[in-house]
Amino acid sequence: QSALRRYPGQAIVDLKAMRDNMRLLVDRVGGPKSNTAVMGVVKADGYGHGLIPAALAALAGGATWLGTAQPREALLLRMAGIGTDRCHILTWVYNGAHAPLAELIASDIDISVGSLDAIDALAAAARKTNKTARVHVKVDTGFGRNGFTEEGFDAALDALVPLVKEGVIDVVGQFSHFSVADAPDVPEFVEVTNGQLETFNRFTVRMERAGIPPRIRHLANTAATLTRPDTWFELVRPGIGLYGYEADPVMGGPADYGLTPAMTLQAQLATVKDVGAGHGISYGRTYLTDDVTSTAIVPLGYADGIHRSASGFDARGAKHVDKPGGPVRVMTDEGPRIMRVSGRVCMDQFILDLHGRADQLGVREGDTVELFGPGRGEEYCEPTADDWGRASGTISYEIFACLRNRIPRLYL
Ligand code: PLP
Repeated sequence: QSALRRYPGQAIVDLKAMRDNMRLLVDRVGGPKSNTAVMGVVKADGYGHGLIPAALAALAGGATWLGTAQPREALLLRMAGIGTDRCHILTWVYNGAHAPLAELIASDIDISVGSLDAIDALAAAARKTNKTARVHVKVDTGFGRNGFTEEGFDAALDALVPLVKEGVIDVVGQFSHFSVADAPDVPEFVEVTNGQLETFNRFTVRMERAGIPPRIRHLANTAATLTRPDTWFELVRPGIGLYGYEADPVMGGPADYGLTPAMTLQAQLATVKDVGAGHGISYGRTYLTDDVTSTAIVPLGYADGIHRSASGFDARGAKHVDKPGGPVRVMTDEGPRIMRVSGRVCMDQFILDLHGRADQLGVREGDTVELFGPGRGEEYCEPTADDWGRASGTISYEIFACLRNRIPRLYL
């Protein structure tokens, strides 16, 4: 308790929700005995939920693979005691010359290769380690990020085949990433996804013909895991679903898929005070109170990862536009109310116009308010990270990933 008093807010992470979300995704692809395994994507500190807790929750929910972008995070998982008896680990973003490739190979971590330089660096590291490197060949099926293009694939196969024969490299898998699988309602995007799938299959044929057939093909993110069974192959890689969200809220809310958002972001109100009508709020006077009211300070700001773009503007303020700020659930004597960021988000705090007198509403300094949580569906339920995404012009992923370590994560 006293340690908590040093922090202005906290992110409460529900491990059971993450485990159940993973179980739901495992069941979705046919359960633990299915030919399709599930990777819990725990990159970027478990999408801000904590690397190790997210990994353990994913494994408890039936994931048999973990995935990270950075090699450092893959190594941390092994260092934390998550051994090969519990899961495979794949890591996919590195610069060959600077990556700890030998350490990854020694730690039984699977590595993505998507460039000739990466093949060279990996082969050198495997020789140095005297151990076969487990490799997943990354192919660019239209995302335009990492991976071999169809045009460059002959050279890749020419480089890989002798290394496989020599036992330096074991081609475990082939993978790619979807660009618009989160828009199953947009026909032209469905066409793009179909096209990516066809391209993926063409790469597989070329690998088979070269004598290095991939044993594990994987392509599906959360959206495709939920909506495109034809993309499942031997492994799926959901990330945001583990944390209880769908990639794009246009696909519906988490509850539509049986997912439970795992993180609740709370803060304790600082200064609560009465102000008159027409009072300017925060930098730039973008918000003026429309009546006698009270304001309350939420002591979180952009230095904590609250986006400045979640600021709220009032048409009578200096910018002359109405723009609703990020939503916050405040408990009043009359029940929960949604209040919004009023004026600009500052570095360490933002302001709520309570639209009423604090003493009449029963709002006091120290009261706990919720920025987002599971959004349980009753009236004035707490907002979700999707609501903050909308208010900030971004997506839930960025809302989580930007939360700084000034906000302690507490695990339930
Ligand atoms: N696979 C790769 C290569 C990724 O980069 C990501 C995340 O962006 C995922 C899987 C998981 O995607 P999502 O969080 O949309 O399920």
